[in-house]
Amino acid sequence: MIVSEPKPTEELVDSLSGVDRVFILACGGCPVGCKSGGEERIAELADALSKAGKEIMGRAQIDFLCNKALVGSQLWYYLPQLRRSQGVLVVSCGIGVQAVAKMVDLPVFPANDTFSSGGMQGLWPSEERCAGCGDCILDLTGGICPITMCSKGLLNGTCGGQHDGRCEVDPERDCGWYLIYQRLKELGKLDNLKKIPPLRDFRKREVPGSQRRTTRWALEKGEIYEASRPTGTE
Ligand code: SF4
Ligand code: SF4
Repeated sequence: MIVSEPKPTEELVDSLSGVDRVFILACGGCPVGCKSGGEERIAELADALSKAGKEIMGRAQIDFLCNKALVGSQLWYYLPQLRRSQGVLVVSCGIGVQAVAKMVDLPVFPANDTFSSGGMQGLWPSEERCAGCGDCILDLTGGICPITMCSKGLLNGTCGGQHDGRCEVDPERDCGWYLIYQRLKELGKLDNLKKIPPLRDFRKREVPGSQRRTTRWALEKGEIYEASRPTGTE
């Protein structure tokens, strides 16, 4: 499972500034398991955005947003609502947001922050990657992750070294910031490049204490292990 947590509502409303007609698209996989998604959260988001003056053009939950083939085939049913929307609020991990960005011709806005689960990760069905930075800024970068798509993980690229759209560190790779520029240009959002992301709180990259104690920890250290020890082995 990829672990994510809800962004504060005020932050979401702020990121959607200028976007009045919103489609809410949620993942029915990991976010349901870690309570950053699900029908209840979708309803809460719709309510909060309506109160902030947004018009909810539609809402949908798809298993699993990281799977672009699935996203493409399911979104087909929502084309009329999407065509009237100005942006898609994506309730998923960072991979889901990136996958949706590739399948819709609209700006995407992450509703969640994805953080590291300390080695345990879900499956990556395609090329998108998320480093679990805990402070998702995909709304500023056209749904392309600067941390995993740029070799240097720059937040204010490009570094100036890209050549013909290729990365100076690895010419086999596309330059992530070149892709971000092209995408923002297509979306008419080049002004995003003037927005400086807030300073990073690198503590968010650490695995929170609440996520360290998994069922395995319980088996190794906890009461389950103690209870399962045969008598006479103390
Ligand atoms: S910015 Fe990138 S690494 Fe950070 S949460 Fe979003 S997708 Fe993941
Ligand atoms: S060339 Fe592009 S992808 Fe490579 S390090 Fe520079 S900004 Fe990042």
